[in-house]
Amino acid sequence: MRLAITLILGTFLTSCIALPALDLRSQDSPTSLTTAPEAEGEPLRIWIPYVGQGDGTLFQLPYGKTLLIDAGPPAAGKNALLPLLRKLGISRIDALVITHYDLDHLGGVPSLLAGEDGAMGTGDDIAVSLAYDRGGVPWDNSPGYGDYLAALEQGETSRHTLAAGDALDLDPGVKIHCVAANGAVGDETKILGQIDLSVPAYAGKENGASVALLFEYANFRYLTAGDLTGGGMTDGFITPDVETLVGKLVGQVDVMHVNHHGSLSSSNENFVKATKPKAVFIQAGKDNPYNHPASAVVERWQAVGGKIYSTKGEMAFSLESKGNSFEIKAVQESH
Ligand SMILES: [Zn+2]
Repeated sequence: MRLAITLILGTFLTSCIALPALDLRSQDSPTSLTTAPEAEGEPLRIWIPYVGQGDGTLFQLPYGKTLLIDAGPPAAGKNALLPLLRKLGISRIDALVITHYDLDHLGGVPSLLAGEDGAMGTGDDIAVSLAYDRGGVPWDNSPGYGDYLAALEQGETSRHTLAAGDALDLDPGVKIHCVAANGAVGDETKILGQIDLSVPAYAGKENGASVALLFEYANFRYLTAGDLTGGGMTDGFITPDVETLVGKLVGQVDVMHVNHHGSLSSSNENFVKATKPKAVFIQAGKDNPYNHPASAVVERWQAVGGKIYSTKGEMAFSLESKGNSFEIKAVQESH
């Protein structure tokens, strides 16, 4: 498989003077929240491959560490993520974050870790140093959860729980804040609120429990939150609205990885208007049975100026930022 960059889709300048609507680095913050000065060194690179119907995003941090957020459905580990890692010359992932326990987010972990030969404990394994997830146990039936835990154990990966208010200390230049997990929303200074996911009437509890991460690299801000819900309907039932609190906490971002593949359960008006991104990534599979992304959701993001980059047409993208601007490219896979 050959990967070729085909088209530069957009270059954006982030505002050098505007502060986010909610400055996570207020004076109440611990000093560890101080963002590095105007970054113009090595870039932050984000890879959004085509993983089918699911999420999986690879981050190459400026100081060299590698972070994978979700690993797509089972086939994606070997078919999408492994080729990407090989192309980039990566055989060790420093940190894996699983946003929640649905199969389209953690299903790819075993086949990724096992490498090309499909067996762990052989020379072609992908090693993972640390794994982070929301802890606890799945809310819903999660067919891939046991295999995920087994793969981590076999790979001797240590597993850690992420909570709202935690920070991932992976890179001196990029601050990675966990702003939501298990329905709690907050930053390093305070918990803004806690949505009670146990309310019997709620559908999509597992999605609502998703981990949300805010990346800050100098003036560049990126938000990703798995299948986090916003009070929309799913299977005829209402979902917990965690998004509104996250939007209130985080404020404006430059780039959004859209929640729940563009489902109507997510991307509520409050969240969209608060975050107002310039660019929006949507990971959704070709001909997926859920009709993701919903056209109404796409229109909501476009209405606030978000340019849509959807993988649905078997597209893949890369983003590069040195902290004051960012550039998105389409990456076409030639078989
Ligand atoms: Zn999903």
